[in-house]
Amino acid sequence: MAEERVGLYPGTFDPITYGHIDITRRAAKLVDRLVIGVAANASKAPLFSLDERVNMVRAETRAVAEQEGVGIEVQPFDDLLMRYAERIGARIIVRGLRAVSDFEYEFQMAGMNAVLNPKVETVFLMADAKYQPIASRLVKEIAAYGGNIDSFIPPRVAQAIQNKIMAERGGYRAG
Ligand code: ADP
Repeated sequence: MAEERVGLYPGTFDPITYGHIDITRRAAKLVDRLVIGVAANASKAPLFSLDERVNMVRAETRAVAEQEGVGIEVQPFDDLLMRYAERIGARIIVRGLRAVSDFEYEFQMAGMNAVLNPKVETVFLMADAKYQPIASRLVKEIAAYGGNIDSFIPPRVAQAIQNKIMAERGGYRAG
């Protein structure tokens, strides 16, 4: 029997957007089992805690797993990516590519990861054109200025951002 094809889709997911969900759906079509690794990434000072991000990714990818008939597991991680991939038996790392701006960084990372572990292949997927411009960072910025973020993230995530912004404003007055 052929070896089970395990894919790992790592990211910060602060928070999960329709772009991430679209990439998850595409990745699910390529593997037998998909692990979404939510990086602690403390250096990026995420808006949402690791637990909050994991829970949101779990809730928003459940339907994808059902629709695609593929097991999707969401886990936090705080390790070297290649070591994590090895630990969970992943041979494929999935990354999304947006614009040219993503390319330089992703190209370097994939290249260095290939040296660290040549058995693991990085594949790049593109989201549907309407989701390509979406970036978590911009969604948070738009929300902070009271803009409408409904086209970029699922309703529950939008609500979570509003709650977070209100809670933060409880402590100080922005602007
Ligand atoms: P990281 O800090 O690892 O870049 P992100 O959560 O920002 O974490 O992104 C995780 C992955 O998802 C990255 O490969 C990123 O390029 C991809 N991604 C995020 N948004 C989109 C999008 N709108 N279209 C395609 N790929 C995306």
